[in-house]
Amino acid sequence: MTRAYNFCAGPAAMPEPVLARAQQELMNWGKSGASIMEMSHRSATFQDIARHAERGLRDLMHIPDDYAVLFLQGGASTQFAVIPMNLLRGRGTADYVRTGIWSDKAIEQAGKYGKVRVVADSSAGNHTSIPEFSTWDLDPNAAYVHYTPNETVGGLEFDWIPDTGDVPLVADMSSTILSRPFDVTKFALIYAGAQKNIGPSGITVVIVRRDLLGEAMPETPIPFNYAVQDKDASLYNTPPTFAWYLADLVFDWLKAQGGPEAMAVVNQRKAQKLYDAIDAGDFYRNKVSPECRSWMNVPFQLPDKSLDPVFLSEAEKVGLLNLNGFRTVGGMRASLYNAVPEAGVDRLVQFMNEFESRYG
Ligand SMILES: *Cc1c(COP(=O)(O)O)cnc(C)c1O
Repeated sequence: MTRAYNFCAGPAAMPEPVLARAQQELMNWGKSGASIMEMSHRSATFQDIARHAERGLRDLMHIPDDYAVLFLQGGASTQFAVIPMNLLRGRGTADYVRTGIWSDKAIEQAGKYGKVRVVADSSAGNHTSIPEFSTWDLDPNAAYVHYTPNETVGGLEFDWIPDTGDVPLVADMSSTILSRPFDVTKFALIYAGAQKNIGPSGITVVIVRRDLLGEAMPETPIPFNYAVQDKDASLYNTPPTFAWYLADLVFDWLKAQGGPEAMAVVNQRKAQKLYDAIDAGDFYRNKVSPECRSWMNVPFQLPDKSLDPVFLSEAEKVGLLNLNGFRTVGGMRASLYNAVPEAGVDRLVQFMNEFESRYG
C-alpha cells in the first residue's frame, strides 16, 4: 500500500517512521507483554514514557525549569476557557488580539470569565494583515495579553513576537508550535492542541511560567487547575496515555531531524515553493500580505468556485489529500506541518501547474 500526501489541517499527517514504530510496538511494548494503551498511567513503564516526552519537548523548545509543561485533555478550545480561569488572578480584564477565526473563538469564551478588551483587530481588512504593534491599545494592568501566532484557517502568521513588557503574553500555538524555534522566555503561557504538529488528537500541551500558578478561580475543574496538574505531573486523573506516547515518538523523530531549527529551514522552503506557484500567474490567489503569510497553512482560491470540486477530486486521484479549505470558508488550503515531506509540496505544485494548463 502506498501512502498519499496528506495536507489535512488537523488531525494532520504523522511522520511515517513514528507510525511504523507504533505499529511494531502496538501489541507488546518492550518486553512488557501488553500494549501501552493497556497499561496503568501509574505504572513505572508509562511514567518513564511520560517523563521522557516532557524531557523531549523541553529539549526541543529549550524550555527553562521555571516553566511547567502540562499534558492535558480537551484541545485548544477548552484552553480558551481554562486560561482565563487560571490566569485572570482577580484582575478582571484581559487583552486579546483578533486576527481570525481561532482568536474570535478564544475571545468568545474568555468573555464568560472576565472582561475582554480587544486591543487590535484585523477584521476590517478581512484578516489579510496584522495590525502594527504600535497601534495596539494595551492595558498595563491587564491580567495577560492573548494572541494567535498562526491563524490556521486564514493562513495569517506573526513572524515577530509582541513585547508586552510585564504583562504576561499568552499564545495559541496549536498550528505553529515546533515548526520553527521560539524563544519561550518571551511568553508566559504557550498552548497547543496536539493534532497539528505534535501527534494525534486528544492531548493538549500547556507550557506555563510557574510564578503565575496557584490563583485559579475556585470553580475551575480540578483537572484543569494548572497548579494541581503541575504538582501531579499531569497525572491528577487518567491522561490520554496512547496520545502521550505517540507525542513522545514524534519528539524523538523531530530531534533526529535536527529539531525546530532544522524544520524551520525546510518549512520556509516548502511554503515558499507553494506561494511562488500561487503568485506565478492569475489562476490561483492568496490574499494575505506577503510578510504575514503562514508557513504552515496556505489557503488559496481558484478563479471560479465551480472548479473547486474538480480540483479536489483530481488531486485525490493522484494521491494529494485534504486540500479543501475550512468548512465555513471554502476554497483550498494546504497545511504543510513538519510531517508533510517537501516531496509532497513538489508533487502538489506540479499538479497545480498541470491543472492550470488544463482549466486556465
Ligand atoms: C485547531 C486549532 C484550534 C482548535 O483545536 P481543538 O483541539 O479542536 O480545540 C484552536 N486554535 C488554533 C490556532 C488551531 O489551529
